[in-house]
Amino acid sequence: MNLIADLENAAERGELMALYQPQFEIETGRLVGVEALARWNHPDLGLIPPDVFVPIAERHGFIASIGDFMIDAGCRCASVWNALGRHVDVAVNVSAAQLLNLDFLDRVADNLASNAMPANQLIVEITESLPVVDVPGVTARLVHLRQLGLGISIDDFGTGYSSFARLTEVPATEMKLDRTVIQERGICAPYVSDAVEKARELGMRVVAEGVETAEQLARARNLGCERAQGFLFSPPVTESEIGRLLSIG
Ligand code: C2E
Ligand code: CA
Ligand code: CA
Repeated sequence: MNLIADLENAAERGELMALYQPQFEIETGRLVGVEALARWNHPDLGLIPPDVFVPIAERHGFIASIGDFMIDAGCRCASVWNALGRHVDVAVNVSAAQLLNLDFLDRVADNLASNAMPANQLIVEITESLPVVDVPGVTARLVHLRQLGLGISIDDFGTGYSSFARLTEVPATEMKLDRTVIQERGICAPYVSDAVEKARELGMRVVAEGVETAEQLARARNLGCERAQGFLFSPPVTESEIGRLLSIG
């Protein structure tokens, strides 16, 4: 119970932080994007991973404050890097509950405006299971975000809910292959190739996540992925470390 109460005020108390995992263009090796990943530094328990606290926040109705914190942090970083001449995409993970929050679209628009950030530099990552949850309005919200110019990424593609139909239901600009696919622990290879082909026909960018070895990078390249992210390149790191990787720190 204490953990729940602690989490509710974690953002206010300055206990949340965002780390950023770089994404590289496979062809050139350039750093072209980052994914913002939340961390909770609990005063007694130390660093708590998002797999633990995000589901708690979702269940107890305060994921929006964590999500807002992450969007603010991501946009602020992008504006700092932009000002130094390095434009990289910033991806944030967004839960269904957050997406459905009435303030969400305004919050995003305000952030883009106050940071003078082009909308297409911000990418909303939604997990595949989301639109399957029968919540009217999720797809409508995504359409609206798309109209604002944001990128929309289908995260964790290849886990549980994959279907070709889903690729067309959501106005996505990107498909992110789950690490179980890249590490060949997930759905079967012909299915993956078909899904990637379909995504590319629809004009989506395909990103590989969880790339840990040179073999997995080769697999991502052969599958037709344009970008890769994973421990082979870098774990999630601080904003200043990204600045250093961009040679502006
Ligand atoms: P995700 O969106 O699939 O994020 C990728 C996760 O894989 C991250 O874990 C990252 O640290 C980890 N990872 C990156 N490269 C590798 C690799 O090469 N190998 C392996 N084994 N793992 C790798 P993390 O940061 O613990 O985040 C876990 C999940 O928590 C995320 O999965 C995402 O679903 C959720 N999450 C994180 N931040 C947020 C947030 O701000 N909002 C929401 N709603 N969810 C978040
Ligand atoms: Ca993600
Ligand atoms: Ca993922």
